[in-house]
Amino acid sequence: MSQTAPKPKKPRGVAQLQPGKCIACGARCQSSCPVNCIEMNDAGEPIIDAAKCIGCQKCIKICPAGAIELYFTPEERHLLDELAKASGGAEPVEEVDPEAAALSEKLAQYRGVTVFIEQTEGEPARVSWELLGIGAQLAASLGVELSALVIGENVEHICQEAFCYGATRAYLIDGPVFRHYRTEAYQQACCHFIDRYKPEVVLMGATGMGRDLAGSVATVVSTGLTADCTGLAIDDKRNLMQTRPAFGGNIMATIMCDKFRPQMATVRPNVMPMPERREGASGVIVRDDFTVAEENILTKVIEIIRDGHAHDHVDITGADFIVSGGRGMMASENFAMLEELADELGGVVGASRSAVDAGWMPVDRQVGQTGKTVRPKIYIACGISGAIQHLVGMQDSDLVIAINRDRNAPIFEVATYGIVGDLFQVVPALTQAVREMKREKTGSVSGDR
Ligand code: FAD
Repeated sequence: MSQTAPKPKKPRGVAQLQPGKCIACGARCQSSCPVNCIEMNDAGEPIIDAAKCIGCQKCIKICPAGAIELYFTPEERHLLDELAKASGGAEPVEEVDPEAAALSEKLAQYRGVTVFIEQTEGEPARVSWELLGIGAQLAASLGVELSALVIGENVEHICQEAFCYGATRAYLIDGPVFRHYRTEAYQQACCHFIDRYKPEVVLMGATGMGRDLAGSVATVVSTGLTADCTGLAIDDKRNLMQTRPAFGGNIMATIMCDKFRPQMATVRPNVMPMPERREGASGVIVRDDFTVAEENILTKVIEIIRDGHAHDHVDITGADFIVSGGRGMMASENFAMLEELADELGGVVGASRSAVDAGWMPVDRQVGQTGKTVRPKIYIACGISGAIQHLVGMQDSDLVIAINRDRNAPIFEVATYGIVGDLFQVVPALTQAVREMKREKTGSVSGDR
């Protein structure tokens, strides 16, 4: 009786990190590993224990950056070649994972990028147009349409505005029940929209309304939501890469929602650049007659009381010139010096959180992660060190001038012009110089006449 040699086992290989490719997405590979063979290092990159790895490829499939590959030793490669020869060169049939197939079928039902257009009494919020700007880039990467979702009463004119800022389709849900923003009514309208039109990406402004609505909608439709994103892009698997500061602003995390749709994100005003307005642009308006019975809405708007302090409120987010002061200002009264410079420039005064916490400036002047995001033409930082939480609120300014007596202050890393010196000497000198320049300009203008 002849005995046949046992068939050699097909090697499975082990997972191996490709240097420089990891994007520190948040330990998704680690959480997918069934044998706990992945540890994360301080940079958020995986350390794979090859001795424990069973080559199941789960980490490879989940990695959004394609940073993990299967590694075979030269002997295993040789064996694989032998096995391939023995099978007559036939390509091994790819095993279909039924779970993965069901998931991709579910995700494929969702297409398109939609921006929720926030409006108050028919007045659209500027952040919605900023979102259409980035939404257009996402839609182009995905090869899909960019649409606007407009909810309110008598708000059809907003659809036309949305076309001017890049949308090619606007879904309009218009009716008396949507006159004022109320979570229940707007949430039901948004959920109906998602259920019926199935967008793969939904963006909202990280405003009072947007934060309230996005969280509520994401909960009902059971999907993920990333708040306060500072960067949005699409990866090669059609996933939305949502970047935002994490761990108190010490790292930038890229968050993905790859198993649920739509992918929802909010972005603060002024974080994304304003797209160019294309006058007369047109698109398709899809009127949806969805409504909610008024008696089913528990919240009633009785009266709208305008903020009595609105007249002395300064909106730093809309300013072209901002002169900001930090702890280096030393005292509240020293901010008068910044007011003077800001007045000469036609700008406003901002502050770091330290200055606000010290009670030197009101909280609505705070720039940064827990304050406002600004994008002025010129941002002058006086006595501000440049902590990451401050930088995320101003680093997209067109031009940054930093005044600090510490030449190693991190603010100089984002500054277009850095002045190493005592702000109590530099700021008055700058104000004087601006005054003289203005005087010279008016002098030469009147002299030309
Ligand atoms: P400091 O870091 O103390 O810097 C003062 C600077 O002034 C120094 O660089 C010093 O060299 C310079 N200086 C002193 N005297 C002079 C002088 N005479 N002339 C010139 N330069 C001088 N911070 C924000 O700003 N905004 C936020 O939204 C924000 N959110 C936060 C959220 C979280 C969760 C956390 C943890 C922190 C947050 N912070 C925020 C705080 C942030 O980490 C810093 O502590 C803060 O920004 C520091 O403020 P500062 O630069 O004014 O003060």
